[in-house]
Amino acid sequence: MNLTPVLTDTWDKDHSWRLATYEGAGGYAGLKKALTMEPADLVQAVKDSGLRGRGGAGFPTGMKWGFLPPPDGGPRYLVVNADESEPGTCKDIPLMLASPQHLIEGVAITSYAIGCDHAFIYVRGEVLHVYRRLLNAVEEAYEAGYLGKNIQGSGFDLDVTVHAGAGAYICGEETALLDSLEGLRGQPRLKPPFPAVAGLYARPTVVNNVESIASVPAIVAKGADWFSSMGTEKSQGHGLFSLSGHVTRPGQYEAPLGITLRELLDLAGGVRAGHELKFWTPGGSSTPIFTQDHLDVPLDYESVGAAGSMLGTRALQIFDESVCVVRAVSRWTDFYAHESCGKCTPCREGTYWLKQVLHRIEAGEGQDSDLDLLLDLCDNILGRAFCALGDGATSPITSSVQLFRAEYQAHIDGHGCPFDPSASALFP
Ligand code: NAD
Repeated sequence: MNLTPVLTDTWDKDHSWRLATYEGAGGYAGLKKALTMEPADLVQAVKDSGLRGRGGAGFPTGMKWGFLPPPDGGPRYLVVNADESEPGTCKDIPLMLASPQHLIEGVAITSYAIGCDHAFIYVRGEVLHVYRRLLNAVEEAYEAGYLGKNIQGSGFDLDVTVHAGAGAYICGEETALLDSLEGLRGQPRLKPPFPAVAGLYARPTVVNNVESIASVPAIVAKGADWFSSMGTEKSQGHGLFSLSGHVTRPGQYEAPLGITLRELLDLAGGVRAGHELKFWTPGGSSTPIFTQDHLDVPLDYESVGAAGSMLGTRALQIFDESVCVVRAVSRWTDFYAHESCGKCTPCREGTYWLKQVLHRIEAGEGQDSDLDLLLDLCDNILGRAFCALGDGATSPITSSVQLFRAEYQAHIDGHGCPFDPSASALFP
């Protein structure tokens, strides 16, 4: 069920991914209108809409476009970050599968607005089916004259390259993604300079998330005021909320920002029958966890931040009372240790150390000093790692030790995990 069916408007139709389906639902009206406008007016419209980056950080999209230096005759690029890999985050992949033309139309409008004639879509390597779907969708768009030379007779040319990564979480970090796209090993670059100034091939580059770019066509077609009338004062518009875990009807729920988990659970049939909510992530595993006490926190950037977490990617992972919080956090930490690119010491050594401590607590070999050790390690990673990966790894640990210290202590005192892993059917 979708409260604001914009990105999801065609998902239930037969062959929703085909261009004809998209056009039948009014698709490409935004591009046709955009091509009659001045590029600067398009940038202003996106600024006025209040659209903020849907990849997690929430940076104002129009402002980012406005950071590009004035044209100097050389190339400038749009790179779509489709390397969705955060545990629990699963919105861009369904969007590209169900309705890739939303993204391609957004790519065409954005490229026209920023003066780019070659855009790239960098998609996560493991999702070969999404890569294939994007290739087909790009081909359809070329054939229909929405990409290529002299688009819709406007004189605007655009080529789009779809590139599949090799399956590394770090390549979702925008500068590691750019290195990977250039054929180098994906590791983050020092910022500044930000990609807007020196990005792909050291040229001015806009890097935006899939959902951000896919949101642009409707903003252009329906107007900035239409978009900004949804959501809250500072977190405007609609977004995809991905519910997973112990929820009756998991999936994508498109709604205005500021909706609460309680309201989303009402739409999704609640926590699985006979169970109750124990903890949840508001924006994937890199965001501090929440509990029952946070059911009514409006899911907008400001309210979630004020409550001690981050809206992030709106990946709401729901865990009921059968889940051991130590086990969940330990699995996420395995992920971060595995995916650390090794460039900086705090993340490379720190995530590995965190993993070891969590494993011994889970195995019943923890010591009383381990909880303070975990917090101390997190303190030494947070703000000292080269990119957001290290910081993200600390969020579930610090928040879970604060909220569930007694549960950690029970593992240490009882020399093992008091939970039956088969009861949760998660984190085997
Ligand atoms: P960030 O706040 O450093 O940057 C956000 C964006 O704004 C970037 O594109 C950056 O270039 C731009 N920006 C910021 N300041 C700028 C300036 N002064 N001039 C020009 N551009 C500027 O965040 P980040 O490290 O890019 O991303 C972290 C986020 O990624 C987290 O919030 C997390 O939620 C999200 N994340 C998403 C996934 C996923 O799978 N979608 C995975 C991991 C993390």
